[in-house]
Amino acid sequence: MSESVRLRGVHKQFSGNTVLHGIDLDIAAGSVTVILGPSGSGKSTLLRCINHLEKLDGGTIHVGDTLIGYCRKGQALYELPEKAVARQRQRIGMVFQQFNLFPHRTVLQNIADAPIRILGQKRAEVETQAMQLLDQVGLAHRAQAWPRELSGGQQQRVAIARALAMQPEVMLFDEPTSALDPELVGEVLQVMKQLAHSGITMLVVTHEIGFAREVADNIVFMDNGKVVEAGDARALLDNPQHPRLREFLASVL
Ligand code: ADP
Ligand code: MG
Repeated sequence: MSESVRLRGVHKQFSGNTVLHGIDLDIAAGSVTVILGPSGSGKSTLLRCINHLEKLDGGTIHVGDTLIGYCRKGQALYELPEKAVARQRQRIGMVFQQFNLFPHRTVLQNIADAPIRILGQKRAEVETQAMQLLDQVGLAHRAQAWPRELSGGQQQRVAIARALAMQPEVMLFDEPTSALDPELVGEVLQVMKQLAHSGITMLVVTHEIGFAREVADNIVFMDNGKVVEAGDARALLDNPQHPRLREFLASVL
């Protein structure tokens, strides 16, 4: 299977404090990878680097064949031109813990705005597509609602539809259910589960071990800015090798 995302020696620091210590990672196209790890281990920073929300201090990131990260060119760090960054980011969808819907746009507008504005697609086409996406996340009947009229679980499903409207190759999820009341978690995980079967490449930071067991192909366990253990999801969950992973699993199960 071809690689969709490839990280080599990714380093990141914040004011002298290194939070990613040379991450190597290969994500196969169409696979679902769950990233586990204690708070502060660098999971969000890793996703943010992949989506260009943070600049790397070293190493490279490829999405498909294209270098989206920064690499060392001689001694200097090479930076992609801004336009290239924008183009690359269109290939990556991201869903955050906080849904961040635009409060003054309807559900349908939240989904349709970017494809019209950024991809330059025709409004009628985009709205048809947006309705299909809303149907996919079970919210076609709420197309004209305002975000504040929806539950947290519904808002997060709209946020997923909004990311998908840009037709990304890769979807990044950063603790998408952590801000939700427990009874709303299931409906969001269900949408993500369906998405996993659609063949899109997914990287998911979550503490939902049940989701990881059921849906993930691979698991990456991070601790202190390093990948401590990675591999086949079931094997890793059933037979964790590293003591830190065992400890972590005992704490979240
Ligand atoms: P996780 O998502 O696994 O909880 P993060 O990637 O958010 O971990 O954070 C990793 C480390 O980097 C933490 O020590 C955090 O305090 C630090 N960090 C993250 N973002 C910033 C930032 N913008 N400025 C300074 N420190 C940061
Ligand atoms: Mg985080």
